[in-house]
Amino acid sequence: MLKKLLIANRGEIACRIIRSAKKLGIRSVAVCSDEDRMALHVQLADEFVCLGGASALENYLDMEAILNAALQSGADSVHPGYGFLAENAAFAKLLNDAGLVFVGPSSDVIQSMGSKIESKKLVEQAGVPVVPGYNGANQEASILEDEAGKIGYPIIIKASAGGGGRGMRLVNSASEFKAQLDSAKLEARQAFSDDTVLLEKYLAKARHIEVQILADSYGNIVHLFERDCSMQRRHQKVLEEAPAPNISNEFRQHICQAAIDISRSVNYEGAGTVEFICDKSSFYFMEMNTRLQVEHPISEAITGIDLVDWQLRIAAGEKLDIAQADIKISGHALEARLYAENPKKNFMPSAGTLITLSIPAEVRVDTGVASGSEVSRYYDPMIAKIIAHADSRESALEKMLGAIEKTRVAGVEHNLVFLKNLLNHTAMHEGNYDTGFIEREIAELIPPTATYDLLLGMVWKLLALTQPLPWGGKTGFRINMNNSQHFNISADSKIFDVVVTRNVEQPDSFGIKIDSVYFEVREARWQGTSVSGYFNNKKVRGDIAESGGKVIVMRSGGSQTMRIYDPLKQINRNVT
Ligand code: ADP
Repeated sequence: MLKKLLIANRGEIACRIIRSAKKLGIRSVAVCSDEDRMALHVQLADEFVCLGGASALENYLDMEAILNAALQSGADSVHPGYGFLAENAAFAKLLNDAGLVFVGPSSDVIQSMGSKIESKKLVEQAGVPVVPGYNGANQEASILEDEAGKIGYPIIIKASAGGGGRGMRLVNSASEFKAQLDSAKLEARQAFSDDTVLLEKYLAKARHIEVQILADSYGNIVHLFERDCSMQRRHQKVLEEAPAPNISNEFRQHICQAAIDISRSVNYEGAGTVEFICDKSSFYFMEMNTRLQVEHPISEAITGIDLVDWQLRIAAGEKLDIAQADIKISGHALEARLYAENPKKNFMPSAGTLITLSIPAEVRVDTGVASGSEVSRYYDPMIAKIIAHADSRESALEKMLGAIEKTRVAGVEHNLVFLKNLLNHTAMHEGNYDTGFIEREIAELIPPTATYDLLLGMVWKLLALTQPLPWGGKTGFRINMNNSQHFNISADSKIFDVVVTRNVEQPDSFGIKIDSVYFEVREARWQGTSVSGYFNNKKVRGDIAESGGKVIVMRSGGSQTMRIYDPLKQINRNVT
């Protein structure tokens, strides 16, 4: 078995790997940037080496620095996690040449499967259908444009070295082709230092279904069934499930067998994922990811197999002792990715201090942060993965929704309400969605500014303003029924006009008009972080956090950030 493992990664996946290493009695070594000195993965590991710097180029992507850290700490192996150097063939080779075990397939396999062009060629030879298109060596713009015409629009341009949706452009007609090609190539050059592209027929209303495989060094290969990852925004996954809904057993068998055939044809070793794009009853190979995937926990949940555990055992030369026939689907699992991003601003990442992070214990939570942690602008903005597993798909959905309702996040913008709306959508309940679903339904999925949140924020402010001061006085705030007071709330780049009326005899009742909508508020209460009241006879409750002059209301999984302008102070219309 391995003795000491360096984890060349950060965040939730580094924590996840350290946990498996601990279980197997392997000592763990974390690496970190200056930004990450206080991060959870550093605290969890037995040892750590600080590589310095902030941007990933100076640390998590610096091969030499990681190799030196491994040698210096006496590690015998390196787990790359996902992202960063996980699919970098040169990195795997560098480690092997230095006598270290790279937890993953051989550098040659990474090389050939890491190229979308090369892997499509190999897969075609193995007899598995690939998406029709052009993957020739001739990269002249005019040739590419001719080929696009032959394929027939719409087509998709992809960077051969691509990943994470980068260097990928959808082209609807010949007139757009040149501009989109230039922009895809520019992005690919910047991200991968390689602007080779391939063209594919764009399959509308397609599903993304991928198969998890596990292979040892002795030719034993098994699959752990499939995951449906069609819920995507900007070609990136946000919600995944296993098994895929609404597919026949025959389809399942075929797609899983295809993944095994592909893996066998390249002598694959370790954990890997074969991604397919599916069109009604057909599937086409898209790419193979030669690493652990973000969404691996849902496959673990339905099969009971610990993938990281097996990655480490296979890397140590152990034989896979699970027969395919013994791997069964048990129940249904969903994963929701909680991101620090603003769905109202085209999912723009949001950085800052997480003031609050609390997710109920009834679900599996994979995270690299906690309340008080920093979500850095330098790295991926994922806060946590929430994984719900239950006997049936309906129960798993219910469990996930229940957990999201009770989750509290404050300090950064996040996508909880977006996830909730996604999970509540009829298309999700019917298991009838495709990769274009989010884009088509975006207006319905993005939460409008909720009036109840503004009301809760306002009620909290009013109660805070009238709290007795320690010396027995009251703040200068005085109003009565005949005297209405104006406030402004800014939220989601909008300014709301608020008019408050109050009877001094009834300190827990108000009349609050937000823009033109009037609410009668009764039994307003504030205790600790909790605020509640009856708004036009409906009982509403939420939690409040305050940070840098901003008020954050958390309710039903969502959070609304706002600024409330105190009428007694000068109005400052800085928009939140
Ligand atoms: P990356 O490696 O950058 O993640 P992929 O090739 O895995 O790129 O594609 C990402 C997503 O883009 C897919 O899950 C799918 O939603 C969409 N996509 C890719 N190729 C096609 C295609 N030929 N037709 C329709 N959608 C596609």
